[in-house]
Amino acid sequence: MAIDATLPYDDQNIFAKILRGEIPNRTVYEDEWALAFHDINPQAPVHVLVIPKGAYVSWDDFSVSASEAEIAGFVRAVGAVARDLGLVAPGYRLLANVGQHGHQEVPHLHVHLFGGRPLGPMLAR
Ligand code: 5GP
Repeated sequence: MAIDATLPYDDQNIFAKILRGEIPNRTVYEDEWALAFHDINPQAPVHVLVIPKGAYVSWDDFSVSASEAEIAGFVRAVGAVARDLGLVAPGYRLLANVGQHGHQEVPHLHVHLFGGRPLGPMLAR
């Protein structure tokens, strides 16, 4: 079910539990600002989620409330993950779902990183 991205941060969300090490994940990258791990239900040969370490509900929340260092660190981490996975030359897609119309299901900001095959048009019509 899609979430309301204007609600306050819920520290019981599944990605908060992953960040605290309460739920296992298949980590592909971690630094001071971000954690990246394989999506449990991959939609492409490569489907990785990159999340900030800070408690932010969505891109909206993050872009308003995160510090310059957190924003820079997170954006650089997303780029580093794609480079580390060898996706720059073949190409890849980033996606961040926000709220109800974006069909965001987990209320902790995450960027989906898809790759490993030609991904076709941007949205199903
Ligand atoms: P959203 O629709 O919120 O943008 O995407 C949430 C994503 O989180 C989905 O692609 C879903 O498969 C993934 N996901 C949900 N629960 C878990 C989990 O416990 N572990 C991992 N690795 N991914 C999850």
